[in-house]
Amino acid sequence: MTRSTDVVVVGGGQSGLAAGYHLRRLGLEHVILDAQAAPGGAWQHTWDSLRLFSPAKYSSLPGRLMPVQSGQTYPDAQHVVDYLADYEKRYDLPVQRGVWVEAVHRDGAFLRVATDGGDWQARAVVSATGTWTRPFLPAVPGRREYTGRQLHTVQYQSAVEFAGQRVVVVGGGNSGAQVAADLAHAGIDLIWVTQRPPRFLADDIDGRALFDHATARRRALDAGRTETGGVASLGDIVAVPPVRAARDAGLMAAKPMFSRLTATGVEWADGIAADVDAIIWCTGFRPALAHFSALRLRGTRGHIATTGTRAVDEPRLHLLGYGDWTGPASATLIGVGRPARDAARQIRELLR
Ligand code: FAD
Repeated sequence: MTRSTDVVVVGGGQSGLAAGYHLRRLGLEHVILDAQAAPGGAWQHTWDSLRLFSPAKYSSLPGRLMPVQSGQTYPDAQHVVDYLADYEKRYDLPVQRGVWVEAVHRDGAFLRVATDGGDWQARAVVSATGTWTRPFLPAVPGRREYTGRQLHTVQYQSAVEFAGQRVVVVGGGNSGAQVAADLAHAGIDLIWVTQRPPRFLADDIDGRALFDHATARRRALDAGRTETGGVASLGDIVAVPPVRAARDAGLMAAKPMFSRLTATGVEWADGIAADVDAIIWCTGFRPALAHFSALRLRGTRGHIATTGTRAVDEPRLHLLGYGDWTGPASATLIGVGRPARDAARQIRELLR
C-alpha cells in the first residue's frame, strides 16, 4: 500500500525537526521518517563526555530556546537529546520512527519514497539524514596490516575501555581534540596526531562566533564579494573547558601525521615508529545520500549540486543540514533554522 502526503522529510534529527517546525507553521501536510527508535538523531550515539561548543542559548532550534543545563555552560549530548525529544513533542511533529528510507524515485508528478515499511508518494522531499551514518577514514598505507584495534569517532564511548593502553588519536578538529582531551584526563598513554599543528580558537570564541562568521561569509559570497577566508580562518578547535584544561596542563602536544601503519603501530616519514594498542580516527564524515542514487543527481565530492537547499536537478528535493553547502552553518543546531525556513517557503511556492 502506498500512502501519500505533500512532503516527506527523511531523517528526524535536529534538521528534520527544524524542517517539520517550518512546514507545520506554513500548514503543509508532511511526515518525518526516521530510522532511529528514539528521538535525538546522532546525539544519541556520541561519546559520554562530549560538550557542545556553544552555550545552550546559542544551540537552539527555531521557536524554542534550549534550556540551560544545570551547572554547565556547554551542555552535554544527553541534554541535546532531551531538548530534541521535548521539541518534537511540543510542536506535535509527525515523526514515524524505525523507518529506513531505501530510495527516492521520480514517479510522474510525484516523488516515490521507498522505505522498509512501504512506499510514500509525495510532492516534495526534504532530506535531513546527516553524516553520522557515513564515517570517513582516510586511505593511509598499511591500514589493513595493522593488527590492533581501529575505530572511528562514531564508535568511541569513553576512556574507560582504553585503561592501560597506548592510543593514537588522529584528527585536529573538534572531535579529535575532545577525544584526545578525554583520554588525556583519564591518564591514558596518548599520541595525538594532526595533519597540521592544532589551531585552537581564542578561549573566548565559541560556536556563536563561528555561526556569525559563517553567516557573514555566506552574505558576502551571495553579494558577489570575494572569499573572506571562511570559518577555518578563525581556527579549528573550540577550547571547551575539558580541552582547555588538558591543553593548559600540557597534555595535548600534537605530533604530525604518521606516514603509514605497521602491523603493531604507526610510523612517521623519518622512520620513527611507535607500537600502539588502538587508533581512533577522528577524521570526519560524508553526507548520507545513498537513498538518492536512483535520481542520478549531479554533484561533486559526495555532495548533490544545490541552489540554497534545493537540488539543481530536482526542484522537488531539498537538502538540509549536511554542511555549509546547504546553508551557512546548517549542520549546527542554531544554523539549521534559517535554511529550514527557506526550504519550507520554497516548497509552499512549488505546491501552489
Ligand atoms: P543527524 O543528527 O545525524 O540526524 C539524521 C537522522 O536521519 C538520524 O536519526 C538518522 O538515523 C536518520 N537517517 C539517516 N539516514 C536515513 C534513512 N535513509 N532513512 C531514515 N532515516 C535516516 N553542532 C552544534 O550546533 N553544536 C555543537 O557543539 C556540535 N558538536 C558536534 C560534535 C560532533 C562530534 C559532531 C559529529 C557534530 C557536532 N555538531 C555540533 C554538528 C551537528 O549539530 C550534528 O552533526 C547534528 O547531529 C546534525 O543533525 P542532523 O539532523 O542533520 O543529522
